[in-house]
Amino acid sequence: MDQVKAHCGLLFGLDASWHVTDVALELKQKRITDSLEFVGSGAVCPECAAKCGLKDHASERQWRHLDTMRFESILTVAMPRSDCDTCDVKTVSVVGR
Ligand SMILES: [Zn+2]
Repeated sequence: MDQVKAHCGLLFGLDASWHVTDVALELKQKRITDSLEFVGSGAVCPECAAKCGLKDHASERQWRHLDTMRFESILTVAMPRSDCDTCDVKTVSVVGR
């Protein structure tokens, strides 16, 4: 299973700030659900792009990703929230990940 998680991390282009915590394959439903966890110590403010501290994590959400070999691909993530001195607390953007 660790190899599958590592493989998924490479496919998503994740850096060391992210861990793939679970990969659930549902053959009958033709669905793969990848669960990701942010383990980095800091964040980048989505409004002013300043490097800042990590406040906490937003509630867990799911996104549909591009299909993988005709399997519906779902991402489950609790996105980190930045703690910016200028912009206050903001949920880090998922775009560009
Ligand atoms: Zn900011």
